[in-house]
Amino acid sequence: MDFVEAVRRGCEQTIGGIILCGSLYSIPRTACVLGAALLGLGLPASSMTTRMAIIALRDVFPVLSQRRSCPVPDCCSLPDPSYSPQCDAALLAVHLNDDHRWQRMRIAHYIQDGDDSGS
Ligand SMILES: [Zn+2]
Repeated sequence: MDFVEAVRRGCEQTIGGIILCGSLYSIPRTACVLGAALLGLGLPASSMTTRMAIIALRDVFPVLSQRRSCPVPDCCSLPDPSYSPQCDAALLAVHLNDDHRWQRMRIAHYIQDGDDSGS
């Protein structure tokens, strides 16, 4: 299973259209992009911290350890300024979710393929 497929499976288990920020999973059944990936893998998103999630997901999806930059023009608000202008893809996923409110599947495709045309 790749990252896009994990997020897709997680999205199927959660409510769409709501963008959850600042936490992985919330009642009732909403999840951020990383929370969705955890759910897609069958991992307990509701009992993990974001840090735990990033460590677990990097083990499964090496793409999340790649150094990436934010695709949004003129963005300079990456989560940790010391990572700017690039951060690893897991933090970029959180940033796109929380700061730019991208839909989860758009983030998943961008992280995996560098493709921002999908939805
Ligand atoms: Zn940005």
